[in-house]
Amino acid sequence: MHNVIDNLNFIQNEIKIKIKKLNFSNYSPKIIAVSKTFPMKDIIPLINNGHIHFGENKVQEAVEKWTDIKDEFKNIKLHMVGKLQTNKVKFAVKLFDYIHSVDTFKLAKKISEEQTKLNKKIKIFIQINVGNETQKSGIDVNKVSEFTSSCKKLGLEVIGTMCLPPNDGQSDIYFSKMLDINKMLGLTETSMGMSSDYINAINFKATYLRIGSKIFGERN
Ligand SMILES: *Cc1c(COP(=O)(O)O)cnc(C)c1O
Repeated sequence: MHNVIDNLNFIQNEIKIKIKKLNFSNYSPKIIAVSKTFPMKDIIPLINNGHIHFGENKVQEAVEKWTDIKDEFKNIKLHMVGKLQTNKVKFAVKLFDYIHSVDTFKLAKKISEEQTKLNKKIKIFIQINVGNETQKSGIDVNKVSEFTSSCKKLGLEVIGTMCLPPNDGQSDIYFSKMLDINKMLGLTETSMGMSSDYINAINFKATYLRIGSKIFGERN
């Protein structure tokens, strides 16, 4: 069997055991295989094995890798997890099914315009600067309510929130905060948990885990 399939099976099994231990019912998180920097030949085995959710962080790279494959495999869901520039929105809306990184009004407005043109509804996560870090993207925790309302007024289908928490070993604090924010907003989906902390994210019932290196190996 291919390595990537072994790796994904291992993760899925680990998650299953964890969920059983926690006694969570009606909970099955989706794994987004974040395939950025990896060529299609490393990704194809997962597609052929029936995996559905994939993530990329650069529009240009994603267009090159996924345009034909998505035509062929109509059930694939592609997630834009990286920073999105407004001049790339046109291409992103055409290709992706989900955008996880909506964090400015300008971007939200552009997505709204482009999806109207294409008669498409992208599923949207609002990116939250959950650790209140100065250099990091994401909406301030205390502005998220207002921002989410604005996005909805633009006709965006906001399904949840996303975070890239500080790398300080305290992800539990941030995951818990994300749950509070979602509750306040009345949203059900959370995009959180990466290779290093997805098991912690399970404790907080993350619904979309974004896992890259633990599936595909270390990136150059
Ligand atoms: C690369 C990336 C991931 C996956 O990171 P790993 O640590 O390799 O699992 C998740 N989310 C975002 C936004 C990324 O850019």
